[in-house]
Amino acid sequence: MPLPTPLAMPHSLPAEACLAALQAGPEGLSHDEADRRRAQHGPNRLPEIRARGPVLRFVLQFHNVLIYVLLASAVVTGALQHWVDTGVILAVVLANAVIGFLQEGRAETAMSAIRKMLAPRAAVLRGGARVTVDGADLVPGDIVLLEAGDKVPADLRILEARGLAAQEAILTGESVPVEKAPGPVGADAALGDRRSMLWSGTLLTQGTARGLVVATGSRTEIGRIGGLLASVDSLTTPLVAQMDRFARWLSFLILLSSGLLLAYGHFVDRRDFSEMFMAVIGIAVAAIPEGLPAVMTITLAIGVQAMARRHAIVRRLPAIEAIGSVSVICTDKTGTLTRNEMVVAAAETPAGSFAISGAGYAPEGAVTPAGDLSRLARAAALCNDAGLICRDGVWTVEGDPMEGALLAFAGKVIPDPRATARRLDAIPFDSRHRFMAVLTESAEGRMVHVKGAPERVLRMCAGLDIQHWHQRAEAMAAQGLRVLALAERVKAGKWIDPAHLEDGLRFLGLIGLIDPPRPEAIAAVAECRAAGIRVKMITGDHAGTARAIAARIGLENPDRVLTGADLDRLDDAQLALEVATVDVFARTSPEHKLRLVTALQANGLSVAMTGDGVNDAPALKRADAGIAMGLKGSEAAKEAAVLVLADDNFASIAAAVREGRTVYDNLKKVISFELPTSAGEALTVVLALLAGLALPITAVQILWVNLITGVTLGIALAFEPTEAGTMARPPRPRSAPILSAALVWHVVLVAALFLAAVFGIFTYAIGQGHPLALAQTMAMNMMVVLEIFHLFFIRSLHSTSLTWAAARGTRVVWAVVAAMTAAQLAVTYLPPLQAILGTRPVPLTDGLLILAIGVAFFVIVEIEKQIRLGLKGAS
Ligand code: ATP
Repeated sequence: MPLPTPLAMPHSLPAEACLAALQAGPEGLSHDEADRRRAQHGPNRLPEIRARGPVLRFVLQFHNVLIYVLLASAVVTGALQHWVDTGVILAVVLANAVIGFLQEGRAETAMSAIRKMLAPRAAVLRGGARVTVDGADLVPGDIVLLEAGDKVPADLRILEARGLAAQEAILTGESVPVEKAPGPVGADAALGDRRSMLWSGTLLTQGTARGLVVATGSRTEIGRIGGLLASVDSLTTPLVAQMDRFARWLSFLILLSSGLLLAYGHFVDRRDFSEMFMAVIGIAVAAIPEGLPAVMTITLAIGVQAMARRHAIVRRLPAIEAIGSVSVICTDKTGTLTRNEMVVAAAETPAGSFAISGAGYAPEGAVTPAGDLSRLARAAALCNDAGLICRDGVWTVEGDPMEGALLAFAGKVIPDPRATARRLDAIPFDSRHRFMAVLTESAEGRMVHVKGAPERVLRMCAGLDIQHWHQRAEAMAAQGLRVLALAERVKAGKWIDPAHLEDGLRFLGLIGLIDPPRPEAIAAVAECRAAGIRVKMITGDHAGTARAIAARIGLENPDRVLTGADLDRLDDAQLALEVATVDVFARTSPEHKLRLVTALQANGLSVAMTGDGVNDAPALKRADAGIAMGLKGSEAAKEAAVLVLADDNFASIAAAVREGRTVYDNLKKVISFELPTSAGEALTVVLALLAGLALPITAVQILWVNLITGVTLGIALAFEPTEAGTMARPPRPRSAPILSAALVWHVVLVAALFLAAVFGIFTYAIGQGHPLALAQTMAMNMMVVLEIFHLFFIRSLHSTSLTWAAARGTRVVWAVVAAMTAAQLAVTYLPPLQAILGTRPVPLTDGLLILAIGVAFFVIVEIEKQIRLGLKGAS
């Protein structure tokens, strides 16, 4: 049978005609048919943005002011026929480019792998059942089910819509959501006016819809205009950008001072120009921290991967820094702090209280004492969008877990009433009105069933002691149960009129669901508290339930609860006062989240906020770190967030904070290592020149040291694991500058010690009667030894380096140290290399002396750190 071709003008045809033209039915395609169509139409994917080719990426490694300076130096040394120097400088540049190239490739692979983890999924009808599939698997003829917050996965002809509106800015530029409905529109309507269509890539801002896929992949409107997938994030964060600016400013300063030094040496000191020039180039090259940008990018890439391993997917790189500095985490309750694996445990009806047994979603269990819960069960099953699936004896939910639990409960009481009832209309659940209503037709006629938050549903019921039932609901909530009220009424007509729902419902009973806290969330909350981070719960659930769960989870102040209504009564100033101490917010709507973020930020706090619904997007954008739920979160929430939790688990937030702090520490370590090293190397030569002394290290030797240490040692720091006390420290202030007074002091101290050690060993060697070349060789080795010890010192920035773990190091550290030792031994002892670098073999005793000075250097900086940490601890 030939496959249908895509429809030309679906917006102007009646929905039935579109179904017929695509040979589709309202129950969806069969699995086989979907496979057949996919083979013909291809996957529902837009062509990938072509990544930059490897050649261009390699060339771009040279596009950096620091590298320009090095290349210019190479040209000048070449012109002066100092070929060795030219060679070494070019080797520095090339090594840097190769490492930058490889690591950037790695970073981009990491980012694109992560983007794939965020690929959207879609709920479709296949063979009459609702299933969730990859967005890429959709084919023309599929029936897609959508709700507010979803991203439209293909071009759809709307078959059914309720309160539907979509934001189509990416296609039409119009940022105000457009209302949508199934009725056909004129054939010549402009794209933005085709109300009967939903376009791929746009967002549903409200309502629910059922739509027929009419075009997929590059045949969609967005595909036709060459729309692209999520644009590529640049590999930068505020800190890296800050360092980039600093590096540029630094190179300018280095060039200026080098020029001045050259002029001084030649005109005032009357030194030979060519010799002077080579020395100055050595200084400039040594002083420039050319490895810094590459190493910082690598550090970030490693951080992104580490977070992904802990189920926290970075959508925007700055999230890494932001999440590491948060001082408050505002989190949802259901599914994040709790498991979201619900079980109905209790029911209260006018006939009495009942306990319901059974585990998981299996519809097997008993009601005690025996009683007639069939009306309650019928309402629970009919007012329900979920499905239960049994595979190999294991029952799972398709849809909302709470509704799944209600189905399981109903199954324990009666056979599935949905088999014999036809749904005519529904008011979907919305966290603002907190109830759901369904109109069905069956043998008993037309009935409306309502379920929702007790205070909402009780208000709609007639002839009831509302006070009494509120108390019953409170009592259930106080046990940590999630409470729902159910009601029903006979109804004529085919539509539910919300205005007439309000009165005359017949109350059926309350249902209490258990949703146990996640054990790992309890541990993670404790970890956050130790790390000086306050955890606040913001939930749509009942105040009593929220309080009970907050206490079990271990929040600091579980007893005071503010409800959404309380929040509405407070003005911004009062709210800012209250949020400091209140940790539980219940019966909130998404709008309250935005107010809470703003109030917390007004207190100078750095806020992480979780969210899943479309209405959470503004709060997620406003937060310092917006976190969306990967499993139950809407596309709208994911797009507003910087971080997505693959498992919706609070423990993953704590893990992300730990990784975020680690990355920031490692960036700081890289900087704290590179800057004093560069300064120490450069100052050695500068000082000798200014003092009119012989150079303790020749220009070419400085270049060599720079070549082998510049990038290699720094990279080891990018792989540093989390330091032991990382989650026992208070969060770093949001505005803390990276180039802090402490860092400047560290640069001064280490540079001074470098100078003392290098000049010391040089003077000692000359004093021993060693030839100049040997003295210089010893000075050069001294410098490399100092750098290695400095590396070990820097690895523990916040604690002592004198622990077994610190001494054991990492594989990368030892690999780098081994490589450098081998290289140093080679240039010191192998005659051909000696000829190039002008070195001499260093006698064993002198070699040991150099090592001893390295140890002494380590002891001095370590004592200084202990004093500093001691002072900090005391204050
Ligand atoms: P959070 O995820 O923010 O911790 P929540 O999931 O409990 O909180 P909402 O989903 O806004 O918050 O639910 C608020 C209340 O609305 C629930 O306590 C329940 O009483 C009611 N409710 C939730 N889901 C449904 C539903 N599908 N049908 C009817 N009522 C519902």
